[in-house]
Amino acid sequence: MSEFVIIKPKDVQKINCPLCGSNKHKMVRTNHNLRIVKCSCGLCFVNPQPTKKFLFKWYNESFYYNPTSEENITRNNRGNEVHKEVVKIITSFKRGGKILDIGCGPGALLTYFDKKRYSLAGTEYSDLEISKAKKITRDIFKGDYLEITLHKKFDIITMVEVLEHTQKPLDYLKKIYTNLNVDGLAVITVPNNDWMLMKGYMNDLTTMHLFYFNKKTMTESLRKIGFRDIRFHINVKANYYENWYKTLVIQVNQLFSFILFRLTGLYKGSGIIVSARK
Ligand SMILES: [Zn+2]
Repeated sequence: MSEFVIIKPKDVQKINCPLCGSNKHKMVRTNHNLRIVKCSCGLCFVNPQPTKKFLFKWYNESFYYNPTSEENITRNNRGNEVHKEVVKIITSFKRGGKILDIGCGPGALLTYFDKKRYSLAGTEYSDLEISKAKKITRDIFKGDYLEITLHKKFDIITMVEVLEHTQKPLDYLKKIYTNLNVDGLAVITVPNNDWMLMKGYMNDLTTMHLFYFNKKTMTESLRKIGFRDIRFHINVKANYYENWYKTLVIQVNQLFSFILFRLTGLYKGSGIIVSARK
């Protein structure tokens, strides 16, 4: 194990719950020496949180974080089922318009859209990913979405598997709301903290998730910002995992979760896909 992932006291800071402001939290589990707490409002998060300086170093130097890993490449080659569901939501919402994808990486999601109908833009941190994304659209803004000033509004804003890594998730949702046209659509995906296979399949340390949403806390976060028409969607087909038997287990779980959700409204699947209107 890399020595770099040992997080020292100087690398962390205590926070209040960004959803309700409370500082009363119960510890629910640990991730090496990071503590994951649950607030009385239900939101789970790492507390104390790694500092911005530590995270910058971690993303740049950690051998755990590797966007070009075998698993990621295989998944992208086979098609990302979450991306497909996001595309389905957007194309049934509007057959054209301005799309912004936050944390667009190499532009994998943007490649699904017909450029004659949609104008495409993205934000991204990494220079390597930006150079790939620019082959799809020239409108790639470099940096942290919170720090980028955008001079136009969008009909659709997507944020796929990004919010859980941010230090101020509610600020991101607020900015998405501001950058949307009236009646615009936000589509956000995060891992599900109520996922029934969480323990066996989620390795917190390799992912550096700082916030753990479920259906309830995601709904409340979006409502707090002012979003309306909040809807949950499920990718019935699971993403490819590192081998076929893991993929099969997740596939069965995802199907079961879909049926349970339809019958009871409870959601125990692996990831949350939510859409909301301004
Ligand atoms: Zn709270």
